[in-house]
Amino acid sequence: MRTAATPIFIRPGRMWCGDGKPAQDGLALLIEGRRITAIGASNAPPENCEIIDLPQATLLPGLIDAHAHLFLHPYNETSWNEQVLNEAEAYRTIRAVRHAKATLLSGFTALRDLGTEGAGYADIALQRAIAEDLIPGPRLKVAGRAIVASGCYGPARRLFRPDCCLPQGAEEVSGCDEIVRAVRHQAAHGADWIKLYADYRVGPDGETRPTFGLHELRAAITCAHDLNRPVAVHATSDEAIRRALEAGCDSIEHGYDGSRKTFALMARQGCAFLPTLTARDAIASYRGGHTSDDALSEAMRPLALTFRVALDEGVTIGCGSDVGVFAHGTNYRELEWMVRLGMSPHQALLSATAINARILRSDSSLGRLAPGFCADLIAVSGDPTRDISALRRVTLVIKDGVIHRRPMGSS
Ligand SMILES: [Zn+2]
Repeated sequence: MRTAATPIFIRPGRMWCGDGKPAQDGLALLIEGRRITAIGASNAPPENCEIIDLPQATLLPGLIDAHAHLFLHPYNETSWNEQVLNEAEAYRTIRAVRHAKATLLSGFTALRDLGTEGAGYADIALQRAIAEDLIPGPRLKVAGRAIVASGCYGPARRLFRPDCCLPQGAEEVSGCDEIVRAVRHQAAHGADWIKLYADYRVGPDGETRPTFGLHELRAAITCAHDLNRPVAVHATSDEAIRRALEAGCDSIEHGYDGSRKTFALMARQGCAFLPTLTARDAIASYRGGHTSDDALSEAMRPLALTFRVALDEGVTIGCGSDVGVFAHGTNYRELEWMVRLGMSPHQALLSATAINARILRSDSSLGRLAPGFCADLIAVSGDPTRDISALRRVTLVIKDGVIHRRPMGSS
């Protein structure tokens, strides 16, 4: 494992530590090896260290996206169906290597990847390659193949001749025995999280319907928890969200049509919510319904209400974008959406750092700038606690004590 040999002393214009306090001036941070070892006054750098001065920049913890798909690329380049049907796993893996690098260099130092969408367990190999420092990329928590109800995902069979053998975007199961078997297999292959799809567009007219019964969700989640794997559930309809909560899931993905009552239940249970706002906007834009600078599109208006309800009810809201639907390396769009729909920049930054670290069960080492924490940190020019779009201007990226991106002009 490569680590920085020389200690690094960073003097930013301001520092935002992810501890709930506002950004502060006049502080410096010291990295030794793979850890942050001190935060204190900026006037006394220790001897024999590399000094990085960033007077115009804000230093903050590396960002985390808790809903990503490194094995997908934007649907306006290639549709989801075409990617799953026509692109070989090896080709998709080569793309994923590029996506991982773009993600890291844009300031996202950790991701939860929620399913390879037909690329098998290639995410587990990618996670290993990054951890072994063979390629640059964010720290990964992965979900492997993910689990769907039989006949309830894509590519949709009705679009093809009935005797076609179609690869699917996730592992298909029916009944408690099969879903438990799939959970055990996916965990055995190395899945850190189990991802279930509790609803999908499988109604007669393509409307969203629940796909798993409560008994199946319960069986899967009980088994996953026995194996110490948290469970993320894709659910957009109120009924599916409610079932997933009743079954004891750990995070709800999308949740677009959740009711106030259901979000209140989510808050009481301490289940996390990943709103994936950017995915909805991106897909609408690919269909010609993009949100303009001053008006929300028809696709985004209901999400604005749902997001407000989740905020009001005190739900734990993480930052999860569903990147892959849109370009890797532009994950910051999700924070911009969170602010546009009612969070303060400070709240959105907390979601993408300390709160996501807690959702990922990594809050003793990630998501904050503090002595003893992993040296995963970034600098952006400007002040993202006032203007969230400063996240587009990343100038420094350090992961695990290693500098992956440095300001122009510094060596
Ligand atoms: Zn997703």
